[in-house]
Amino acid sequence: MTNTKNMRKALCEIGKLCFDRNLLDSSGGNISIRDGDKVFITPRQAGEHHQWSIEEDMIIVTDMCKVPVIGEVDKITREAICHYYIYHAFPDIKAVLHAHPPFMMSFGSAHMDIPAVSEGTRCVISPNIPITNIEESVPGSEQQAVRIVDNFKWRKQQDPDAGLICNIPFHGVFSAAEDLNYAYLFVEVAETNCKILINRQIMFGNNPKADFSIHHDISREEISSIAQSKEVCPTGLRYRDAFGKEIVYQSQDDNLLSSSQQDKKISEEIISKITDEVLKKIKRD
Ligand SMILES: [Zn+2]
Repeated sequence: MTNTKNMRKALCEIGKLCFDRNLLDSSGGNISIRDGDKVFITPRQAGEHHQWSIEEDMIIVTDMCKVPVIGEVDKITREAICHYYIYHAFPDIKAVLHAHPPFMMSFGSAHMDIPAVSEGTRCVISPNIPITNIEESVPGSEQQAVRIVDNFKWRKQQDPDAGLICNIPFHGVFSAAEDLNYAYLFVEVAETNCKILINRQIMFGNNPKADFSIHHDISREEISSIAQSKEVCPTGLRYRDAFGKEIVYQSQDDNLLSSSQQDKKISEEIISKITDEVLKKIKRD
């Protein structure tokens, strides 16, 4: 998890993590965070000159038009234009990551889309649309920036909840999210997804028994149900609690009743208890 309170530290940590996990290499990559009207962005050639072991004071801070507040303009990554174009096009986006993950790039080097075949990719990125390639572009150019923004707009049109990530043929990938953790997550799950695609082709490609079809098209509704807490025991189950005491399990839903509902339930219980007692007494009398 990144330290998103300290933007400069977070960028250094994610850069190193990406490099260690083979999502970035010495030939390039760049990362930024937007904080209000400021952009924190990695320096040029962080891979080539520093193998992504960069220091916090190497992070440049600029305004939204790339005018530096801290640091020098000519030290900013050479692909900065893509970051600023994304921030201007998507006000909710707070982090942009440009990486060079080799398994995703294998698809880019064949201009092939990346279908979702992992739970992570289906849930976190999109169950409905693949990760697609932009046209081959000049690295760090306005042309590349415009095409990435267009790709992300297309993704939002197809699936409003889609994660923003695209492939750049023969180059790398761009991801953008509402925080740096998610910009990183999109790249990592997409890279894992590509490893699965490649593995299953190597392992089962010509095997007639291999079934690559999707049997259950997971919906956004089903994805959102993941976060709902579920009961794991039926009410009335006798069991030993965490302290070894024999008890009867009571549905957690009952425990989640509002205080007025609980008061109502308690008073109903008391009334029925008193009624029972009174009836017993009358019978005895
Ligand atoms: Zn690059």
